[in-house]
Amino acid sequence: MPQWDKSSTKRSTAVSRLKLQDFEAFREQQLKAMTCQACVEDFAEQRWALGFKCSACGHDEFWFLARRRLLDCKACRHQTSLTSGTIFDKTCTLLLKWYRLIYRMAMDKVGVSIAEMQRILEIGSYRTAWSRAHKVRKAMGDRDARYHLAGLVEMDESFFGQNSRLE
Ligand SMILES: [Zn+2]
Repeated sequence: MPQWDKSSTKRSTAVSRLKLQDFEAFREQQLKAMTCQACVEDFAEQRWALGFKCSACGHDEFWFLARRRLLDCKACRHQTSLTSGTIFDKTCTLLLKWYRLIYRMAMDKVGVSIAEMQRILEIGSYRTAWSRAHKVRKAMGDRDARYHLAGLVEMDESFFGQNSRLE
């Protein structure tokens, strides 16, 4: 191999390494830039894209019980939360952390380690992190599932575009 070939290979490796580092830094920045409110708004938009609909009676008007973060159907008084009936239901983990995890999982084609998931979800238990990751993977893999995740999985660009406007 001629000398110039070697050096050009070295150079291009250095360039691609630099790009990868830039990308990692950019991604970290994006993950940090996500806000709780933006995630809640985004999820509400995706879940009720055609407007709120009571899961018990189908009515479309509600009172928002701010303190308890519940939607109270004006017709039948059935109360529901933003996350009820989704994989995020009955978890103490903030939606923001779920978004971070899903974003990470959607971006990393090779997979995300359980240790990384623990860090993102900020949970100590390996077992809990594993079971939550399993839920997300299942929902991501099963597009026809009743979980409202299809939009979320493909959120990477659109979500961050939206988020950056909120900043
Ligand atoms: Zn109702």
